[in-house]
Amino acid sequence: MSERPIIIIGAGHGGVQAAASLREEGYEGPLVLLSADRHAPYQRPPLSKAYIKGEASADSLILRGPAFYTENRIALRLGEAAASIDRAAQRVTLTSGEQIDYAHLILATGADPRPAPFAGAQLPGVHVLRDMDDAERLKQGLGAARSVVIIGAGFIGLEFAATAALKGVETHVVEVAPRVMGRAISQPMSAFFAGEHRKFGVRLHLGAGVAAIEDAGAGARRVTLSDGTQITAGLALVGIGIVASEGLAKAAGLAVDNGVVVDSAMTTSDPHISAIGDCASHPNLFAGRRIRLESVQNAVDQARVVARKLTAKPAQYDALPWFWSDQGDLKLQIAGILGEADVFVTRGDPEQRAFSVFAFKDGRLKAVESVNRGADHMMARRLIAANAALTPQEAGDPAFDLKARAMGR
Ligand SMILES: Cc1cc2nc3c(=O)[nH]c(=O)nc-3n(C[C@H](O)[C@H](O)[C@H](O)COP(=O)(O)OP(=O)(O)OC[C@H]3O[C@@H](n4cnc5c(N)ncnc54)[C@H](O)[C@@H]3O)c2cc1C
Repeated sequence: MSERPIIIIGAGHGGVQAAASLREEGYEGPLVLLSADRHAPYQRPPLSKAYIKGEASADSLILRGPAFYTENRIALRLGEAAASIDRAAQRVTLTSGEQIDYAHLILATGADPRPAPFAGAQLPGVHVLRDMDDAERLKQGLGAARSVVIIGAGFIGLEFAATAALKGVETHVVEVAPRVMGRAISQPMSAFFAGEHRKFGVRLHLGAGVAAIEDAGAGARRVTLSDGTQITAGLALVGIGIVASEGLAKAAGLAVDNGVVVDSAMTTSDPHISAIGDCASHPNLFAGRRIRLESVQNAVDQARVVARKLTAKPAQYDALPWFWSDQGDLKLQIAGILGEADVFVTRGDPEQRAFSVFAFKDGRLKAVESVNRGADHMMARRLIAANAALTPQEAGDPAFDLKARAMGR
């Protein structure tokens, strides 16, 4: 009988890295990488940035060239989705009906756009943005639109909003929360970005829910807000967050709780199955609790952990979370997890559009949000990862040598 492979379901940032890391760590056995997506595996962050702007081609987003898969003996199966998992038999059934037995299974299924809680999200001209096909449709739509309405002021919605507004397209953003990126960043940084988006020309409708989207005829969509306000636009983007792709895991009886439940070695409730990336709910050292992260850093670092585990090396996920978002000419970089931080100190000058917000809880530095201050971000990653002592006074003092403290000097 031939050796059972390690099967990886999902060829996004996590899945591709897991395959690469398994080979780097010395795994010699067969490897199968299943991808529901028909495109060669690609980077997702540029889809809402350079790709939509027309500054990057689809080819330039490819994660690894074809030679990588052949040289590393990775059986990449594009456009082939897993339909079910038989845990007792350690067998995956594909939507085609084909069955493949596994020695170990890695779930790297990512996430799906959160279903809209209002009517009209399925109308033509109403978009989501998760994959390459979505991005292509959105890019084409933006090219033809004179006005757009974006529902949700999260990272993806605001990245797209900045691009649209700076192209001279009338741009509305509707957000149910009172502030932009409210789930992810501090109040001072959120206020700064709201101000900058208004300067880009974005019309923000904060604290406003959506009642429905309708076809307004002549290729237009009409969005009715909960207060009765109506916005008519040629294109709508619904960017109200994502939900973990956990259906396969749930149907197979694995523990799920806002994502597939894993331990710090990315093992699910079945020792023969791991989960990584956007789909994994993991105990996070920096959050001090179980969370699900939606970032390239998280997917890639968790993939490395799983590869170490499967090659019998010490494996523990304890990486510092970090993230970035490009909105217009502003580069936002975040290190750490904001959590319940309640003391915020600004370093640098918001007027110059180059500054950082240092967020503290109980005297400890929890997160740093930097705008156009890459050096602060790199220092912050070191400081938080090392749990280094830094007071709010030091953080806010422009003369204080942050680098020396970060380097442990
Ligand atoms: C537009 C956009 C912009 C972003 N910008 C940033 C950014 O600036 N910075 C940042 O850090 N992160 C960003 N992210 C988030 C980042 O891309 C994700 O966190 C990352 O891709 C997660 O990797 P993953 O491998 O867990 O999942 P994914 O990359 O989503 O890959 C999962 C793959 O699994 C496949 N799949 C699902 N179910 C099955 C199945 N049953 N069978 C086979 N295949 C299946 C899916 O088709 C998908 O290709 C962005 C995301 C998007 C969509």
